[in-house]
Amino acid sequence: MNSFGDLSPRTSGVYFKDMSPREGGETSANGDITVASRFAQISCFTFEQYEEVFGVLFHEMMHSTDNAITVLHEGFGDQKTRNHSRIYDRGAYELLRSFTGRNDIPRGDLWGNPGNKPVDIRKMYEKYRSRTKACKC
Ligand SMILES: [Zn+2]
Repeated sequence: MNSFGDLSPRTSGVYFKDMSPREGGETSANGDITVASRFAQISCFTFEQYEEVFGVLFHEMMHSTDNAITVLHEGFGDQKTRNHSRIYDRGAYELLRSFTGRNDIPRGDLWGNPGNKPVDIRKMYEKYRSRTKACKC
């Protein structure tokens, strides 16, 4: 996630807990990130699973970068804040940019400051596979 210079998560680690299938992760007011424990049970992600985890972590890292009041506001009250839609749009923007390799996608109103170059999720996935024992068969 080093390619995202505007991320500065306050989390002290990534935690796991059981969540419903439609939930992927959450961030507490103190910035701690928790992701669904179903992800921890997978020894070698498919590309689709890897992409999902990437999306969840990126989303929660944006929340974790936001201040505690914003996180509390969005966690317990209004999920449809302008900031939250900026977070969703930034996630979609980065995925689209990665898959198309294009940098001329209209940005709209996004969270943070996107870097100059798209991240290459396919390449990240290949690296993940080559360093993960369970992926070698
Ligand atoms: Zn969110």
